[in-house]
Amino acid sequence: MRESCSIVSDVHRLLSPLCVPGTALSELDQIAEEYILSRGGRPAFKGYPGGGKSTPPFPSTLCVSINDEVVHGIPSTRRLAEGEIVSIDVGVEKDGYFGDGAMSHLVGPGSPEKERLLRVTRESLYRGLDHAHPGKRLHDVSAAVQQFVEENGFSVVRDLVGHGIGKNLHEDPPVPNYGKAGTGPQLQAGMTLAIEPMVNYGGYQVRVASNGWTVVTRDASDSAHFEHTVVITEDGPITLTDHFTREYGENGSHHS
Ligand code: MG
Repeated sequence: MRESCSIVSDVHRLLSPLCVPGTALSELDQIAEEYILSRGGRPAFKGYPGGGKSTPPFPSTLCVSINDEVVHGIPSTRRLAEGEIVSIDVGVEKDGYFGDGAMSHLVGPGSPEKERLLRVTRESLYRGLDHAHPGKRLHDVSAAVQQFVEENGFSVVRDLVGHGIGKNLHEDPPVPNYGKAGTGPQLQAGMTLAIEPMVNYGGYQVRVASNGWTVVTRDASDSAHFEHTVVITEDGPITLTDHFTREYGENGSHHS
């Protein structure tokens, strides 16, 4: 998992400087795919089965979600524009083990409120990780994420959650970004989890777009997404992905 996660984070490092006006989403996808293959990995999202019978498998390496798109955006030839939020999610399998990581960027200068949405979403993940110790309950993590997000005036998505990860991309347990402290499975050393707050500027409600994949906010407000794959140890959590840190660069999310 260290290897698959290091590929995930290196993809983010490769793409971050390209999150500027004029870059086509399909260019990001192509660069990511070629890089993952060059490292002996496999894009884990590409070909992932759709939920509904009529939904085709996921067609691309990356999920690229813009503004009110929460997750599962499909990269097209559309180009990034100044002031947009672009959320990039990367999944990699190598030698049978999976890594998963996401981050949102502001494209060029953006509004202070978009900047704040990204900063709060990113920090909410670490507020959750502060509770990811053996003996704690899983929903201690969830509740800490939710509390920090809501006290900053934003909302956490309910319909999508983080997950266990290891020999499969998605394993038990589900890792919600909301919940009641003191409930849920007891955390144990050796557990590997993908923790991924999805935070909306407005209401928490989402819907699936007509392509069967892309999740968008119901009120068309902006959304942000930060994700690490972590392992819980006796000494606390270690982030196996390291494409961003808790400390926020002074110029914003893509200086991490
Ligand atoms: Mg995930």
